[in-house]
Amino acid sequence: GFERSNSMGVNLADDDQLRALASQVEAAIARAGDGGWRAAPLVPGAQASGPMIAVTSPADRRRQVGQWQAADTATVQRALANAVDAQAAWDATPAASRAAILEHAADLLERRMPQFIALCTLEAGKTIPDGVAEVREAVDFLRYYAAQARREFAPQPLPGPTGESNALQLGGRGVFVCISPWNFPLAIFAGQVAAALAAGNSVIAKPAEQTNLVGWHAVTLLHEAGVPEAALQFVPGDGATVGAALTSDPRVAGVAFTGSTDTARAINRAMAARDAAIGVLIAETGGQNALIADSSALPEQLVKDALASAFTSAGQRCSAARVLFVQEDIADKVIGMLAGAMAELQVGDPALLSTDVGPVIDTDAKCLLDEHAGRMQGAAKLIAEAKLGAGTEHGTFFAPRAWELQSLSQLTRENFGPALHVIRWKASDLDAVVDAINATGYGLTLGIHSRIDETVDRIVQRAKVGNVYVNRNQIGAVVGVQPFGGQNLSGTGPKAGGPHYLPRFATEKTVTINT
Ligand code: GLU
Repeated sequence: GFERSNSMGVNLADDDQLRALASQVEAAIARAGDGGWRAAPLVPGAQASGPMIAVTSPADRRRQVGQWQAADTATVQRALANAVDAQAAWDATPAASRAAILEHAADLLERRMPQFIALCTLEAGKTIPDGVAEVREAVDFLRYYAAQARREFAPQPLPGPTGESNALQLGGRGVFVCISPWNFPLAIFAGQVAAALAAGNSVIAKPAEQTNLVGWHAVTLLHEAGVPEAALQFVPGDGATVGAALTSDPRVAGVAFTGSTDTARAINRAMAARDAAIGVLIAETGGQNALIADSSALPEQLVKDALASAFTSAGQRCSAARVLFVQEDIADKVIGMLAGAMAELQVGDPALLSTDVGPVIDTDAKCLLDEHAGRMQGAAKLIAEAKLGAGTEHGTFFAPRAWELQSLSQLTRENFGPALHVIRWKASDLDAVVDAINATGYGLTLGIHSRIDETVDRIVQRAKVGNVYVNRNQIGAVVGVQPFGGQNLSGTGPKAGGPHYLPRFATEKTVTINT
């Protein structure tokens, strides 16, 4: 087993701790002033050029949080050349030294939790509990891959006949491009980068355009911890230009990507078309996650977990529950309770501790959700629509909603936000329900609420998903505890925060010596 423990951070159940943290976050927000944060390429030897782009807060679009500058073509090329040059020395640095640097970064991050929460709140609209979870998970990823690199990247002796010594040696593949999502601007960012670095790769990090400020601060912190500047470069920009230039370059050995299934396919094609060694693509993509409840489920627990699974982080988790399948005997009761609970949801300023649901990331995200609500209007029955709180009119907020559907085929794509759908099922249809979920092609998370062991086993066996959660919510996978990632359209594997992730970033060399 792993001799490590997960980060502690803050006990969210302790009101005093939470209030103290909230006031530190508030102070960090105030210190940032108006428009105070900046992010620009971190590429040694490149000349800055191009306009600064304003970053505004999802909770209040009038508020400028900072500015960022995209990498131009020359900067992208310089970053690739630097990364190639820097890789050998970084790879030759003992794994234990690389691990120590990442652990140092984890310590710094843990100490600077309030500043990073402030960044996540202002730039990504994260609530304070979500911000705590971000920092904790980032810290966990850094420590987890560091510990694993220390264990597995030292030469591993293998058995062999007398007169021969055999060993397996893991090393970096080369240059890795890490393209991280805005929904976990710190945690997933840190997870990708930490694994790639721990394995001895040089890294070019290109975060989602929406969260460059968080990305810039994380890269700066890793440099401060001791990662050489050319071994980890920050190359912000949009996917169509900067992302495409990076992933189609033959100098790139691998790409770690979290985002949409369509973009993962485009990256896969770009990599395949290169006149280069066949690269590695590690992609975590979307989901159409279900929660199946049978009539033995405890309604209070079910509703509480369904609410947490669907609406935490404004539903902007790829693990989030999108469809609740509830057995008909308890459906009326559960739907009534769900509507009651949704009426209590506090939607508003993510910096307030009283807020349950903050804004969605941007105008495009809100438009897609509004369109979905429009489609649902004629096709489904509205169960509940939460109230928007005071002061939400200037932000990109979408009121959490639940609809009752007749069938899963009414959902043609992932709706990335606080939108839950409920479908009733009959006892005789259990296998058909699971088959319909499998037939979406996605396979990320699945929730089950049942007190009948045979039912649980039957669903677990039949479902083609990466993470199953029984009688609890289905979000918030913990590093090393619930390795996270899906099947089919949901990703390539290996699972983040699990034992098989780091080796995917590595080459393996067997050395046999006749002694
Ligand atoms: N690991 C996160 C969770 O378990 C979800 C990650 C994602 O949304 O990409 O909730």
